[in-house]
Order: sequence, then structure tokens, then C-alpha cells
Amino acid sequence: MIRVAFLGLGDIGAPIASHLTRDPFELTVWNRTASRADEFAAEHKVSVARTAADAVRSADVVVTCLPSSAEVEAVLHGEQGILEALRKGAVVVDCTSGDPPTSRSIAAELGGRGVDFIDAPVSGGTAGAKAGTLTVMWGGEETVFERVRSVIEAFGKKIVHAGGVGAGDALKAVNNALLAVHILSTAEGLAVLAKAGVDPKIALDVINASSGRSNSSENLFPQRVLTREFPRTFRLALLDKDIGIAAVLAEDLEVRTPIIALAAERFHEAREKLGEEADHVEAVRVIEDENGVKIAAFK
Ligand code: NDP
Repeated sequence: MIRVAFLGLGDIGAPIASHLTRDPFELTVWNRTASRADEFAAEHKVSVARTAADAVRSADVVVTCLPSSAEVEAVLHGEQGILEALRKGAVVVDCTSGDPPTSRSIAAELGGRGVDFIDAPVSGGTAGAKAGTLTVMWGGEETVFERVRSVIEAFGKKIVHAGGVGAGDALKAVNNALLAVHILSTAEGLAVLAKAGVDPKIALDVINASSGRSNSSENLFPQRVLTREFPRTFRLALLDKDIGIAAVLAEDLEVRTPIIALAAERFHEAREKLGEEADHVEAVRVIEDENGVKIAAFK
């Protein structure tokens, strides 16, 4: 039996945790808003802890899935922080899309207490989380990973060692920067075409058989923009955070990335306009509003 504590039952945390509710795992969950943990427990065989410290006290593996590394820090050090409660010999698997320097400093602090850490951000969205087919890019030591392999395999399909602690975060941030660029550039291109009298549905059909295609053009735009559904699966605020991490990483490493920097700026503006609860694909609405055009089928 592997005792797992899961902290953070958000949009992607909850479906990830759902794969840890069966043998050989014994799962205890904690969520800042307790009602969310109670809702999860109504559907799954788990224990609910009232504090994060209570959740981790006897855990072999602690999985965190929080908005950013700042919240991971807060959960470690805050009023009811878990730092003192973590068992010596435990491993913290941080599925947050975090930032490399903070992950490295957390790993160093935990290491001093006999607790190991790997950053293990994921991609594949809430659908991949539900299906247990996420891609997991992890950073840290092989020997540590081996101790948590079964936990990660419970929700991950493609599991890749990115490098030392923080490498998973770096890879995730750059992936999401590309996602942001693709959403913006696809919206801009379709806005031009709509104004030029080309039906966006026909335009996407051609782009998706041509070299301009991406996951955004193949999946996000047909399923979410043309349909005007814009479902909330991944908050725009979180993508803004990710592209910001990529931009800072580039700056720290003195790599010139004007396209990523501009996309970061545009997503920041979109977050200010659309708020904390909007979905990431809704950034398209800002481009539509600015240009007085709708990216929807003509008929
Ligand atoms: P959500 O915003 O849906 O959930 C965030 C979770 O963190 C909630 O459980 C929330 O608790 C908790 N939380 C927020 N602030 C604090 C705090 N100060 N202290 C303790 N707990 C806190 O985010 P997601 O689940 O979508 O994302 C989690 C991570 O996974 C992020 O880093 C995101 O970038 C990444 N990710 C998300 C994907 C997606 O498709 N959604 C895809 C891939 C990665 P409460 O319920 O109280 O608000």
C-alpha cells in the first residue's frame, strides 16, 4: 500500500487524483476550499483532511497541483504549512506548472529535511487527466523518480525525464508559450481572412491540411471558437502565468525571444480584460473585439 496525499483538487488536480483512488494507493485529499474535497470524496473512496499538514503527516508520496510555485511555497510555509508535518523519506511530486528557480529552492529546502522533490508538470488537458493519458515531464533524480513511478504512471502515459529539478517546469513553460503564440497567431490570421471574405470554417479546413496547422487550429478553434462554446478547462490566468515563466527564463538565460515576449504581453492584457475565471481560448475574443470581427462560420 502506498499512502498518497493530494493537495489541490482544481480543474486538473481532481481528475489526476481520481486515478489514485484505487489499490495500491491509499489516498488522502486536501483542498483549500473544503467543499471541493467533500465533493471529490462523495464520488471516490478517499479520506479528506481538514488541513494540508494532516493530509501529509503519514504520506509516502505528496502530490501538489496548485496554480503556481508561489502557492506551493505557501502550502509549505503558510500558517498550516506542511513543512513540519512531512515524513522523513517522503517524496513531493509537484504537478504544478511551476517555475524552475522556485522548484530548485523548494527541493533544496526539502532535501535538508530528508524529503525528496521532483517537479512533474503535465500536459494533455483535463480530457487527458480524466483518461489517465497525460504527458508528464519531470525534473529530478532517477532514484527519486523510481520511488514514485507507480503514482505517476497511474495518470501519465508519456513520461519523460527532462533533466534536473526545474527542467520539467522549464519545458512546460516553453510548451505553453508555444500554445499561447498559436492561439494568438491563429486568431489574428482568421480575423484577417474573415474580413477578406473567407469563411473561417473553410479557412481552418484548408489550414489544417496545410503547413500553418497546430493543435490550436486542429482542435481548439473548431471545437471551441467556431462553436462559440469556449468551455472552461484551463484558466487564461494560468496560461498567462506560464508564458510569463517562459519569458523570464529566456531573459535570465539571455536568449532573445521577441515573439514570446509579445505573446506574454498580449496574454497579460487579455487577463486584465477577461478576468481570472476566463478560459485560455477566450483570448480570441480580445482579438475579435479589437478588430470588430467574429471567428465563426459564415452560415
Ligand atoms: P485551478 O485554478 O482549477 O485549481 C487550483 C487549485 O489550487 C485549487 O485546488 C485551489 O483551491 C488551489 N489553490 C489556489 N490557491 C491556493 C493557495 N493559496 N493555497 C492552497 N491552495 C490553493 O487550476 P488547475 O487545476 O487548472 O491547474 C493546476 C496546475 O496545473 C496549474 O499550475 C496549471 O497551470 C497546471 N495545468 C492545468 C491544466 C488544465 O488543463 N487545467 C493543464 C496542464 C497543467 P480552491 O479550490 O480553494 O480554489
